[in-house]
Amino acid sequence: MAILEDDLIERIRRRVPSSVGGALQLGIGDDAAVLRPRGGEWVLTCDQFLENVHFLIDVHTPDSVGYKALARATSDIVAMGARPRIFLLSLALPAERTGRWLDDMLRGLSRAARRFGLRLAGGDTARSAGRPGPLALNLMVLGEVERGRAIGRAGARPGDAIFVTGRLGGAQLGLEIVLRRMYRRREFRRLLRPHFYPSLAVDLGVWLSHERLASAMMDLSDGLSTDLARLCRASKVGARLSETDIPAVVVPPSLQKLGLQQLSLALHGGEDYGLLFTVPRRLAPRIPRVFRGTSITRIGEVVAGREVRLVSEDGHAPRLIPRGWDHFRAAFSFSGRARTGA
Ligand SMILES: [Mg+2]
Repeated sequence: MAILEDDLIERIRRRVPSSVGGALQLGIGDDAAVLRPRGGEWVLTCDQFLENVHFLIDVHTPDSVGYKALARATSDIVAMGARPRIFLLSLALPAERTGRWLDDMLRGLSRAARRFGLRLAGGDTARSAGRPGPLALNLMVLGEVERGRAIGRAGARPGDAIFVTGRLGGAQLGLEIVLRRMYRRREFRRLLRPHFYPSLAVDLGVWLSHERLASAMMDLSDGLSTDLARLCRASKVGARLSETDIPAVVVPPSLQKLGLQQLSLALHGGEDYGLLFTVPRRLAPRIPRVFRGTSITRIGEVVAGREVRLVSEDGHAPRLIPRGWDHFRAAFSFSGRARTGA
């Protein structure tokens, strides 16, 4: 079944927010997009979402594939304190997926675009060879931040308070349910949501940047233990976390019996896409517990040195070893164990 590329592009344009306006002077339909900066700075990222690596075509609904592909890419823009503005979509699509599957995927993508304030400015489509070929989405996202206020990873200093948003481990719990092939069970449906449809703290990121409150920030994509180690390495500092303060996902007893532990999921589970940020001690009281629907928890403090330690209630403080998601160490597989090994 052949499909004309022009027709495909027209279908995408009709379904996804893509009208010109704001920074977008010229969008879909020409050879390239034209943007007009408005005095701030651009923040740029791209992210791949690949069948059999990041999602499984028979498990993940097309709606969730579209939503999550854009959420993942946009998360890195939010993590800089920038406001998401424009995105480009490159799509490698097998012929079998150009019908209903594509429409449903675009629906999820559009919802994410509206929620995060993004307009599609263009992209590229190609047919994926193979029977059926692997599907690939590549999202390039551009955000805008006030001049000099992008929040990097390298600014944390000893004494800074460490904060995270949301409950940690929820996306991993959803993935564990998928990996154990229990995703069709009604009682677990609600628990799948953070894995299928991650939410982003867009307004919080922009506020932290505007108010100059955060000394360092990143998104939680690969698990707290791994991501905090990265932030500490970039800032040349260590950290002490308080175990009892970690806002862990609540695991139902039936899943705890299968070995799924709340603290382990919260420390090492990936893909939550919340924010991890540090705030100088004197500014920390300005951080609220909830900001426009996003819960915020203080989990520890930055210290001198290079070690990250987890302080438990009884005062023990073992080193926290990074055991989150490593792309080159683990693959998305039903046959293997859960990807954190937790
Ligand atoms: Mg990131």
